[in-house]
Amino acid sequence: MNLRLGGAVEATLPDESGGPGPGFRLTARVFWDLAIYMVGLGLVVGLVFPPFATALGVPGVYAERMWFRAACLIAGFLVGGLSYAICRWVVGGRLAVLSAHLRSVAETVAQASRTGDWSASSSARIRVDSDDQLGKTAQSFNSLLDALEVGQHFRSLIRNASDVITIIDAAGRISYQTPSVGWVLGYPPGTLVGTQLAELIHPEDAEDFADQITQTSAGMPAPAAIGCRMRHRNGSWRWTETVVNNLLHDPTVSGVVLSTRDVSDRRELEEQLRTQAFYDALTELPNRSLFLERLREAEQSLEVHGTPLALLYLDMDNLKAVNDNVGHEGGDRLLQVVSSRIEHCLRSADVFARLEGDEFAVLLTGPTSEREAPRTAERILAALNQPVLIDDSFIQPAASLGLSTSTACASSGISLLRAADVALSIAKTTGKGRYDTFQPHHHAAQLDRERLQSDLDSALDAEQLVLHYQPLVDLDSGRIDGYEALLRWQHPNRGLVPPLDFISLAEASGLIVPIGRWVLREATQQAATWQNAADPVGVHVSVNVSVRQFRHPDLLRDVAAALHRSGLLPHLLTLEITESLFASDISDVTHKLERLKELGVRLALDDFGTGYSSLSYLRHFPFDILKIDKSFVEGIDVNRQNQAVAGAIVTLGQTLELDLVAEGIETAGELRSLEALGVRLGQGFHLGRPGPAALVCPVPGMRTVERRSPDSVGAALRGTADGAPPMQMTARPPVPQRARHAAHG
Ligand code: C2E
Ligand code: MG
Ligand code: MG
Repeated sequence: MNLRLGGAVEATLPDESGGPGPGFRLTARVFWDLAIYMVGLGLVVGLVFPPFATALGVPGVYAERMWFRAACLIAGFLVGGLSYAICRWVVGGRLAVLSAHLRSVAETVAQASRTGDWSASSSARIRVDSDDQLGKTAQSFNSLLDALEVGQHFRSLIRNASDVITIIDAAGRISYQTPSVGWVLGYPPGTLVGTQLAELIHPEDAEDFADQITQTSAGMPAPAAIGCRMRHRNGSWRWTETVVNNLLHDPTVSGVVLSTRDVSDRRELEEQLRTQAFYDALTELPNRSLFLERLREAEQSLEVHGTPLALLYLDMDNLKAVNDNVGHEGGDRLLQVVSSRIEHCLRSADVFARLEGDEFAVLLTGPTSEREAPRTAERILAALNQPVLIDDSFIQPAASLGLSTSTACASSGISLLRAADVALSIAKTTGKGRYDTFQPHHHAAQLDRERLQSDLDSALDAEQLVLHYQPLVDLDSGRIDGYEALLRWQHPNRGLVPPLDFISLAEASGLIVPIGRWVLREATQQAATWQNAADPVGVHVSVNVSVRQFRHPDLLRDVAAALHRSGLLPHLLTLEITESLFASDISDVTHKLERLKELGVRLALDDFGTGYSSLSYLRHFPFDILKIDKSFVEGIDVNRQNQAVAGAIVTLGQTLELDLVAEGIETAGELRSLEALGVRLGQGFHLGRPGPAALVCPVPGMRTVERRSPDSVGAALRGTADGAPPMQMTARPPVPQRARHAAHG
């Protein structure tokens, strides 16, 4: 069916067989034509009837008369008129029904196109009783209504869809937009028609958006959806996704159809998830994942463009102690303050991240990064030098830094992060609160450590660990009060490895727990043999317990088992712990110390004065012995400062009724000064070097130093030195007075 809109409606209707009709004009006045045809037909019948009347039996005299002819004409006219009236009534009535339907549909469609509201545009169907032309017309009308309704259905779907359907012309002007633009972007329906779509797009997204529309309009494959921000009427920006369909060549649309959806909520959720995945909640800094990502990018840029980079690895030195003092919330607060102070030391291009716990990292990129990194490290250390006020307590933040540069890493083939970590561990072990820079030779040292670490894994099973014993001498009597068990590793290639070379490795890997268990068992076993040798007093044995071993849940069980197995009297076992233990969870430490005391063992605080300098724990924890670190003993006879410190420690120990042991006595002068201060026990190369049990105490029960030399209490003991000539010992009783005089020369 070919419809031309505008002017008179002309139609070429199909005939019954479906072909074109006989060429009627639909709108010509059909009933006027009918009237003419019928009345004319009636008149013709009336005119031609008289000649046939005689044949039909009308007497000729009547049939010839004028009135008869006139009567026939009138009758013909009346029959024609009546036929017309009946036809008009019968056909016209039906056509009226059809036209009433058509009018009603036309009115609602016209109104809907004006208002845009198509909801009322449905109309009743015509009942079809015949299959004649009228019946077919009615059927066609009904089909037309069906089609209208389908269209209306889709229109309704489009209008009520939450997406905004926008049609833009080739110039990018909006030619149509669904009312959903109201609830998506806040504009009343139709108000944006005629404006440029580009005016809605965020300036940062505009170019990309335009490119993609152009691509699609040019028939290139469109991306699944174009993401961009669109301006809301209230001035905010909404994140949207737009699917583009080029219908410029479809004459019913003649435009590019954009289906736009508001995805702001989804973007917000994605953003939240991204934040969770890539940012640290406490400091809002990038986390390890994001930092590694940035590092990867920087390394690529180094590879491609040769842009140098530098990395700072920062670890706080005292966070655990802070947590114990001001609680975890206080610790968190400190981390926030520290991170913001560090941030102020950085350039805007630097990447600063919290890697985990109290570890941070800074990535510096750019041509000056390697030169800038040490200055940045210094700025950070200076910034952290100021105390932080947390809950009425001034906390002094402390951190160590490791620095690595791409140049140093390239020459040693180590990754930047690992190199900075190596430098950090050097900074930590060489004094904390400072920074160290990775040097290529550090890598070799690191590799060596790693080899040692892997050898250590099998050292215990391979029975390569041995204990050496160093005497603790009663300075008054010269009598050996006990021995400190000191671990050594008889390495198949390296010889005798001292504990400082491998204890930290064992700590880091957790191997210290089984190793410590072995030391406990071995030392108590050894001490039990000394105890059993008909010596009523017994010999004390001291065992060093590292932080990780102390914190392990098995410690109490291990100590009890060692005592039980060996049969050693508990008071003969001394556990030496260092102050670093108090930088961890205090409540757990207190509990364990008390349980250990309940077992009956003695507790010594080792290396006193070198660690976490808070004296409060000394009062509250059940220590028996205080070991004055050798750094205060060194040169005490000549160094006034050490004299003062050691004197203060001795007074403190005496006030708290603790036994005092001076470590690292190397000369007679030191010994004399310590004796003068009132230190009761001494340990040091001057009194006796550590050595295997069989050498330091060859005869059970023999444990008195004979002071043969006037310049040293333990001259005879010197020389066992981990393999050096064995010391001399004499049987009791000692000669304290003589020894004392001898010691003082
Ligand atoms: P420490 O517990 O303070 O042990 C004393 C250290 O000082 C020993 O070093 C000893 O040889 C050394 N020393 C003794 N007298 C003198 C002296 O006159 N001058 C000098 N310069 N040093 C002296 P060593 O055996 O190398 O042990 C070092 C540290 O390793 C120990 O320090 C202890 O903290 C740790 N350690 C040793 N054995 C064990 C163990 O079985 N378990 C644990 N966890 N740590 C151990
Ligand atoms: Mg010790
Ligand atoms: Mg010590």
